[in-house]
Amino acid sequence: MKCAACHTELVKKKGEIDLRINGKLYIGRNISYEECPSCGEKVLSPEVSQNLYEKIKHGEFAEETLRIPILEGTYV
Ligand SMILES: [Zn+2]
Repeated sequence: MKCAACHTELVKKKGEIDLRINGKLYIGRNISYEECPSCGEKVLSPEVSQNLYEKIKHGEFAEETLRIPILEGTYV
């Protein structure tokens, strides 16, 4: 599969990804995905994203408190 943004061949990876679904931030662990080595775009297969959406729908996730670094931008 190729990157939709820059058409580089995607590389298969496994690990942790962050997802924003309906405005809420989720961390996915042990996820198979493909990543663009050029622009960093991450792509989930339809099967994997379907599976994750099902888990969210049924509340099948653990909640952990994370300290997330917030970067404050400045208007230039
Ligand atoms: Zn790309």
